[in-house]
Amino acid sequence: MRLASFEYDGTVRFGIVDGDGVRPFASVATLQAYLAVSPSERGALTKGDAVPLRDVTLLAPVRPAKNVFCVGRNYMDHAEEVSRANGKPLNLPKVPTFFTKAPTAIANPGATLRLSPDVSSEYDWEAELAVVIGERCRDVAEADALSVVFGYTCLNDVTARDLQREHQQWFKGKSLDDTCPIGPWIVTADEIDDPQKLAIALRVDGETKQKSTTGKMIFDIRAIVASLSRGMTLEPGDVIATGTPDGVGMARTPPEFLRDGARMEVEIAKIGVLANTVALGTPAIAR
Ligand code: MG
Repeated sequence: MRLASFEYDGTVRFGIVDGDGVRPFASVATLQAYLAVSPSERGALTKGDAVPLRDVTLLAPVRPAKNVFCVGRNYMDHAEEVSRANGKPLNLPKVPTFFTKAPTAIANPGATLRLSPDVSSEYDWEAELAVVIGERCRDVAEADALSVVFGYTCLNDVTARDLQREHQQWFKGKSLDDTCPIGPWIVTADEIDDPQKLAIALRVDGETKQKSTTGKMIFDIRAIVASLSRGMTLEPGDVIATGTPDGVGMARTPPEFLRDGARMEVEIAKIGVLANTVALGTPAIAR
């Protein structure tokens, strides 16, 4: 099942994507509201008539109440390219490197990402498989970890490399507005036999920059969920970005960063394409 958040006729809705249409639920308008319904009763939720996908504006399928959890350097090829670019020896941690992105960084699929050239001159891309947690849980064993995963979606961990470097902690360089597009929809876990066997790619203006498979993760999804939930409660609708493969801009020779008008596409097999265009104008001040 593919679940999408969308705006139609001035109203935000949540529904099931079916072919080239989407059927909105009558009584739930967000993923969190859907997850609050017991799994056995979700099938009986009333749905309205299908609306053509072309007539709706897709929104980020999940807006977590808290920061988006992320794993840094979780593909060996990417860890190696970063070490090479930074002129430092590869020093892999024994546990996942967790950091977060502010919820205000979340952007919609298809949205123009308004990034300020005054804030950073090094905006970079990172295609990632995002995991959406389906239930409240803690201390999840690796063997049970996939059972708390509700579904999967695409995420672009857009990063201001200069800020990431200067601030030491990655948070600031990872949390600017419009630097966390998510979507285009959530594919429920039952549709993905093995989340560690998905092709993942990122294109900029049609040119492939990243091309890998989720099988190359250093810490797989089971290990990530087990480690993150150890002594820390995860809640329905929490999002975990599972790291990016090699091919990021900062590690290329010479380094490449996002230009005004650049169109990024994150594509993950069995999920779809998350496309966003960059506008490097100074955004209006958010109030
Ligand atoms: Mg990342």
